[in-house]
Amino acid sequence: MSNIDGHTFLIGLMAYPIRHSMSPTMHNAAFEKLNLNYAYLAFDIDSDRLEAGVNAIRTLDMRGINVSMPNKQRIIKYLDKLDISAELNQAVNTVVNDHGVLTGYTTDGVGFTTDLKKKGHPVAGKKMVLAGAGGAGTPIAIQSAMEGLSEVKIFNRSDKNLDNAKRIAKIINERTDCKASVEALENQAAFKAAIADADIYCDATGVGMKPLEDMSLINDPSWFHKDLVVFDTVYAPRETKLMQIAKSAGLTEVYNGLGMMIEQGAAAFKLWTGEDMPIDVVEKAIS
Ligand code: NAD
Repeated sequence: MSNIDGHTFLIGLMAYPIRHSMSPTMHNAAFEKLNLNYAYLAFDIDSDRLEAGVNAIRTLDMRGINVSMPNKQRIIKYLDKLDISAELNQAVNTVVNDHGVLTGYTTDGVGFTTDLKKKGHPVAGKKMVLAGAGGAGTPIAIQSAMEGLSEVKIFNRSDKNLDNAKRIAKIINERTDCKASVEALENQAAFKAAIADADIYCDATGVGMKPLEDMSLINDPSWFHKDLVVFDTVYAPRETKLMQIAKSAGLTEVYNGLGMMIEQGAAAFKLWTGEDMPIDVVEKAIS
């Protein structure tokens, strides 16, 4: 951060609460490594101050922002344009300011697919079972379908997000070649059978994260077959209960959400700067 001067452009993170975020550390380490004249700061912006926050992007000629809860949907009405990723998700996690024109993007989905691709598992042609159709599950399903996933079976417990799961499945079936279906998570027989037939199992429920760190949606290791890729979007703890159970069944391709988190940041970084984020530097900075 020593190179801040009169030419430095500001990038922000607007959410509440946000002080725990790793994004400022990630992006500032990358700016410093590449000698880019940007600074990234976190701002506690709740929904009641969001409009003023968005106006500040234009007033201060900020290059852009990241957005997190509770602002991911609410920010849409203050933006000028939505990229296809944000339009299909009806959520935004990244805003780019091009000379006063604000465009919203969602990079969480591409964070998931890029991370899996780097681990040797491109989603194209694969069958995925996805548990959880909330803020993380929605872009994971949509981006994977856009990248050629052949089938996604979405399971959500019978709460308000079951309707969101149906909305996502409709979009995927109408706009991509991926076959999407939805089941209630309470239908455990269907859940078990779907996992037995899948290439990838992704848990995007947050079960396994505090205060649910002793819980997993799957507790019987026999549900897993040895070629299954298991992905948990949780990254704190680094090894969730689900991951432990999958490993106890002899699975080797078992991942937490840290790579997805870094790659969603890398996609935003590219949108703001045009540069590839130095992933190794970022990994070291947040370790
Ligand atoms: P959310 O609240 O929007 O969605 C959670 C979903 O899981 C909902 O559909 C809900 O019905 C379901 N769910 C919640 N508790 C459940 C339970 N006990 N049993 C069954 N289903 C349950 O949350 P989100 O923003 O989608 O976040 C989900 C997880 O993904 C969190 O752990 C979050 O930290 C993680 N996440 C990771 C990344 C990343 O980059 N790795 C990005 C976003 C979110």
